[in-house]
This record gives sequence, C-alpha cells and structure tokens, in this order.
Amino acid sequence: MSDNIVVGVRVRPPIAREEADRPAPLHWHITGTNTITQVDPANNNKVVAATPYAFDRVFGSEYGNEDVYAAVAQPIVESALTGFNGTVFAYGQTSSGKTYTMMGEKKNPGIIPLAIQNIFHTIQNTPDREYLIRVSYMEIYNENISDLIAEREKRGKSLSIREDTSGSVYVTDLKEECVNCEENLLALMRKGEKNRHVGVTNMNERSSRSHSIFRMIIESRERSEEDGVEEAVTVSHLNLVDLAGSENASQSGATGDRLKEGGFINKSLFMLGRVISQLSDGERHVNYRDSKLTRILQLSLGGNARTAIICTITPAAVEQTISTLRFASRAK
Ligand code: ADP
Ligand code: MG
Repeated sequence: MSDNIVVGVRVRPPIAREEADRPAPLHWHITGTNTITQVDPANNNKVVAATPYAFDRVFGSEYGNEDVYAAVAQPIVESALTGFNGTVFAYGQTSSGKTYTMMGEKKNPGIIPLAIQNIFHTIQNTPDREYLIRVSYMEIYNENISDLIAEREKRGKSLSIREDTSGSVYVTDLKEECVNCEENLLALMRKGEKNRHVGVTNMNERSSRSHSIFRMIIESRERSEEDGVEEAVTVSHLNLVDLAGSENASQSGATGDRLKEGGFINKSLFMLGRVISQLSDGERHVNYRDSKLTRILQLSLGGNARTAIICTITPAAVEQTISTLRFASRAK
C-alpha cells in the first residue's frame, strides 16, 4: 500500500432514468466514511457480500463536488504547486458521474475548474514566487491521440509519443498554451470540451469511448532580489483525467467496430489498473509502455508523484459496480 495513491469511491444519487420503477432499488449502502456494502433490496436489504469494500474515502450522494475536491484532489493540486507531479483520475461505467466529478456543471464546478481556481488563488497569495502555467488538453480514442485545443486544421491529426535522451516522454506537436489568469484557463478548458464533441451525434457515445487528459504544467521560481541572479526553477505536471467508460464491450452487446473500440478501451483501462497496482505494491518493473495512456502519464505516476483515483458508481447497478469496486481495490 502506498500513501502516494489515494482511492475514493463516489456514489451518485439515482437519476430519472433509473427511477422508472420508483424508487429505484438500491444495491449499495455506505457503512462508514470508507466502507461500502452490497445489499439485496429484494430481500429486506440483507447484506450480500461477507465483508464491506474499504477504500480511503467513500462519498455518498450528500457530498458535493467541493467535498470530493477538498478530500481527494486538493492535496495533489497543492503538492503540484510545490513541484510534485500528480494525477487525478475519474474511473467508472458510463453515466456513473465521471464528467460530473471532473468538469461539473456551470453552477457546480468539478475538480478541473476547482483546481484552476485553487492554483490561481495560491499564485496570488504567494508574491515571493513567480509562476508560469501552460496547459494542454488531449483525447485518446482508439489509441489515437488528438489535440483538443489546437487550431482547427491541426485538430484531427493523430499525434505520436516520443522519448527524449533524458527519458522524458512527450507527445509531439501537442499544443501547450501559456495562461496568465483563471478566466483564460477556464476558456481553454471549455474550448477543449467543445472540440471533444465536434462531429459526434451522441456526445455521451464519444466520451464513453475516449480518455481525456487535461494537463497543467506549473513552473515556478523564487523572485530574486538581486539583478542577474537566476533562482532554481521547479516544474511539475498536474493531469486531470476523465477515463473512458469501464463497461465491458461484450456485456453491452457490441459488435464490429464498436467491439474493436471497446477492446482498446478495456485494454488501456486494464493496463492502467495493472500499472497502478504494480506501483502500489512497490514492484520494480512497471508496465508503462503497454498503452498510450500510461506512457503519456509515466512521469506523473509512481516515484514522488501523487495519484488519486475517484471511482464513480451508480447505486442501482450491481455487476458494473462490483467491477468498478474491484478495480478500485486492486489500486490499493
Ligand atoms: P459519465 O461521465 O460517467 O458518463 P456523467 O457525469 O455524465 O457520467 O453523469 C451522468 C448523469 O448523472 C448526468 O446527468 C449527471 O448530471 C448525473 N450525476 C452524476 N453524478 C452526480 C452527482 N454526484 N449528483 C447529482 N447528479 C449526478
Ligand atoms: Mg462523461
């Protein structure tokens, strides 16, 4: 077990669709601040599994985005401001609340806008350091990487991953835009979100099949009193990742291209799970190279980097929720 990897589970409230048989039968009871138990609503809510599942935190539907941010994401954002790489993932089946958690809604900001606010607030309150913030926003769809904030003509291009002589992994031609205020950064985030949906008839369809990585690169150094004295520069990456839906392609009855896409998604989610469990078990060999997602995030997973995984589940689902909780358990 590693303190550098925090696993939280978030249970969303039932949504209208699930309330068709009102009230929707709920299969999961939160039994403490960090445990969740499966019950059988058809059998007087009798406990199904022998033991509850335990994580660092379990958030019921009474917790909002700000609570999840403060407990799980804020420590990572703040250590990124002091030079440590960090990554926050949202993992779960489609419609379990990943985008709600990462992006939020206009009046109810999620982890990405809250992190942006947090960063600029800290910068304003740290007058003795100067900061440079750059942002990139990419999507991985079928193992193809595309830039979500590049100019229109460059957007459809599939980008490749390179490694430089020092071992740094980077995405070639990925746009990194400098931002100097909260408003500009929020505008870029919205631009990327909008581009994610271009040419897609069903927005949820695309986002359920792609991973998006919103990355902020934070550079800072102490302001020098004396002219000509160069202070040491600290650089860190903060990645906020909305993963593809974790549902199994074969379970959703997918065929042909859909199945192929599903295969890629499951493969990269599987590889991610493996990398994270290797890290949390302290294994010496970590299979970063097996998927684009883990290669891109290589420098921000493991080592001194801090990671949080927020697993989102729906209270009405059984199989998918068990599969998500298993993924979450494997990460610790
Ligand atoms: P995903 O990105 O995992 O596919 P979404 O974030 O789009 O799922 O959520 C699906 C639906 O559930 C949306 O209508 C969203 O507003 C709602 N929802 C998700 N999480 C919550 C929550 N914690 N509280 C209230 N509504 C939520
Ligand atoms: Mg989504």
